[in-house]
Amino acid sequence: MANAHWLFGDQLGPHFVAPGDGGPHRDAPVVMVEARSVFRRRTFHRAKAHLILSAMRRRAAELGDRVTYVRADTYRDGLDKAVGKAQVTVHHPTSHAAMRFVRSLDQVTVLPARGFLVARDAFGQWVGDRGERHWRQEDFYRWVRRERGLLMDGAEPAGGRWNFDHDNRASPPRGVRELDVPPPYHPREDDVDDEVRHDLDAWERAGDVAFVGRDGPRLFPASRREARAALKRFVADRLPNFGTYEDAILSADPVMSHSLLSAPLNLGLLDPAECVEAAEAAWRRGDAPLNSVEGFIRQIAGWREYVWQLYWHFGERYRASNVLGHTAPLPRWFREADADAVEANCLRSVLGQVRDTGWTHHIPRLMILGSHALQRGWDPAAVTDWFHRLFVDGYDWVMVPNVVGMSQYADGGRMTTKPYTSGGAYVHRMSDLCGPCAFRPTERLGPHACPFTGGYWAFLHRHRELLERNPRMTRAVQGLDRLTDLDQVLDQWGSPNA
Ligand SMILES: Cc1cc2nc3c(=O)[nH]c(=O)nc-3n(C[C@H](O)[C@H](O)[C@H](O)COP(=O)(O)OP(=O)(O)OC[C@H]3O[C@@H](n4cnc5c(N)ncnc54)[C@H](O)[C@@H]3O)c2cc1C
Ligand code: SF4
Repeated sequence: MANAHWLFGDQLGPHFVAPGDGGPHRDAPVVMVEARSVFRRRTFHRAKAHLILSAMRRRAAELGDRVTYVRADTYRDGLDKAVGKAQVTVHHPTSHAAMRFVRSLDQVTVLPARGFLVARDAFGQWVGDRGERHWRQEDFYRWVRRERGLLMDGAEPAGGRWNFDHDNRASPPRGVRELDVPPPYHPREDDVDDEVRHDLDAWERAGDVAFVGRDGPRLFPASRREARAALKRFVADRLPNFGTYEDAILSADPVMSHSLLSAPLNLGLLDPAECVEAAEAAWRRGDAPLNSVEGFIRQIAGWREYVWQLYWHFGERYRASNVLGHTAPLPRWFREADADAVEANCLRSVLGQVRDTGWTHHIPRLMILGSHALQRGWDPAAVTDWFHRLFVDGYDWVMVPNVVGMSQYADGGRMTTKPYTSGGAYVHRMSDLCGPCAFRPTERLGPHACPFTGGYWAFLHRHRELLERNPRMTRAVQGLDRLTDLDQVLDQWGSPNA
């Protein structure tokens, strides 16, 4: 009899049980463990707990007699209940902690990672060929495109350009509340959703676990069938408009043309290869323009892959990076996603989306939530933990580089070339959030001063010495010298709780 194959809750697609190419045995029985301790340890968004458990239980139902599905306190207990001391295989898990755990068990054989386009050793070799300081995401992305023949015309990038970012940074169209695109795919809830909700209620009532945020109706796919339908709908209806307004925010249209595919991708319900191939096929059929298709492929084949590789490449200590020495605790309103307690319209609107859905698109995460945390000097480890718990697509491998590196610059520039933060004027340019706000994006002092504008200058001042050594920040830092009211700005905005 073949060894059993263990599936983690983010390994739910068919590619995690496919034999061959380092996969499990064709006839391997499957083991899944629903470990309550995961939810007991931290306060997750309830919609996230609901999504993960719904997806796991649906997968178990699909696998039928082939799976032993165990509800247990911990993974160790669950595995023991399912197979005792028998040998099992498992595909490379997605966090350092889980990797350490499976490696600590003699009975477990770890198979290569699935659900990514680039093997870990191939990335190691790519880095080795270049040296640590001589590569960036753009180089990596081009390499992936070449290696996989993705959006290529022979040896050249399709359309003669690798990068359409320049076409994909438009301000939101003025005077409209929503983009003129068909609505995204919405799953229909069923008995599994009800059962999970019933269990979550019971656990909460028993004081066993606590959640934050609102749960329901479910917005994200929880089965392979739903995930395929979501991908198909996105490619047909929304991909053509993906590019142009990729960096913009409309408060009444939280999704705009984004795909909402991060949750099913990170649950393993979709493989990234099928997503990028579907997008390329749409372009080749003439159904979507190149700027949108390249923009979408860049997100998956460029950013998602890069982040996965960096998580392992930078190692376990990377999460504790804190080059800027930020130690302020997160305020209560942020911790609890209490949007109603916030006056700044951008923070209220984006935090409200997080509270209600456990999701926002990339720019609110970066330009509003992350930038505010950076300006206020909040502890990057606490910010990472918050994003991980509050976002439906948040997993350790993807949160750590995105928050520690991309959003909080806590790694001092190993991942990005400069801190991502701005004053209110840029928020105003890229969103419709400032019009109805009690504050004014151009003001840095007084009762109507914008916290992002004041916070931006206070941040630059606090880290002047470090930032002026960065050629990409020189002009911004020199701007401090032109402020005749810098002392008052620092009085108003210099402390973390301003
Ligand atoms: C502070 C911060 C935290 C983030 N945390 C997460 C997270 O926990 N999980 C997560 O999947 N993404 C995270 N991202 C990246 C990105 O914001 C989300 O992947 C994206 O907003 C999800 O929405 P979407 O599926 O509609 O994306 P789209 O805009 O439609 O993009 C398509 C896909 O590209 C991938 N992608 C794009 N950018 C990234 C990136 N930087 N890292 C990884 N994948 C990327 C995602 O799989 C996404 O589904 C984070 C970004 C920031 C700045
Ligand atoms: S004015 Fe400032 S606080 Fe208000 S929405 Fe704009 S950026 Fe946010």
